[in-house]
Amino acid sequence: MTEAGARIREVMARAQAAAEKAGRDPAGITLVGVSKTRTASEVNAALREGLRHFGENRVQEAADKLPLITESYAGFHFVGHLQSNKAKLLLSLNPSLIHSVDSQHLARALSHALEGTERIQDILLQVNTSGEVSKFGMHGFELPELARGIAKMPGLRIRGLMTIARLSEDPEEARADFKTLRLLAEQLQSLAIPKLELGILSMGMSNDFEIAIAEGATHIRIGSAVFGERTLAGAER
Ligand SMILES: *Cc1c(COP(=O)(O)O)cnc(C)c1O
Repeated sequence: MTEAGARIREVMARAQAAAEKAGRDPAGITLVGVSKTRTASEVNAALREGLRHFGENRVQEAADKLPLITESYAGFHFVGHLQSNKAKLLLSLNPSLIHSVDSQHLARALSHALEGTERIQDILLQVNTSGEVSKFGMHGFELPELARGIAKMPGLRIRGLMTIARLSEDPEEARADFKTLRLLAEQLQSLAIPKLELGILSMGMSNDFEIAIAEGATHIRIGSAVFGERTLAGAER
């Protein structure tokens, strides 16, 4: 077995064990391998080893890489901070899910770029659950207004919420952020907002995904545990 194959199988086994421990169906958890800084051939190798979904955090990097992905896959995800001037380019890459919508301005740019197409783009709203100023994402209290605004924008469908939990030595500290995201999704769903079908909670990364699964994650975004440690050049992202 290749090293990539061994890592993917290990992450899948750990995700399955975490789901079973939480009394959840492992089939309800989607592993998104975050392939930022990796070459297309590394992504192809991971897809051959059973990865079905991969995610990128930079539009230009994704645009360069996608034409070189020759293996089939179930989903391309965009997980990084998105600038509205990149909305059109990103949509041209047919992302199955954009995890990181965090403003009316960005949503409007996406909706505008979809005008004249029949497409419905699935999106998640990114929430800053940890309160750390360095993190992108909106505050929880801003969610209802944003969701109501997006409900009026053609072409977009909000499918759930995404968060990047606080990073600390002890992954247990991320649990509060995961809980917060789940509660915010429940609160938002209870409001009468048209078109809102929140089923997705995108939360959990290499060092905390088992805790995220215990708290209800449906999509875990895993970089280093799937592809190996990032080199220094890619470490800060
Ligand atoms: C890089 C990244 C991940 C994966 O991080 P790892 O710690 O390597 O698993 C997940 N989500 C986002 C938004 C990222 O940028």
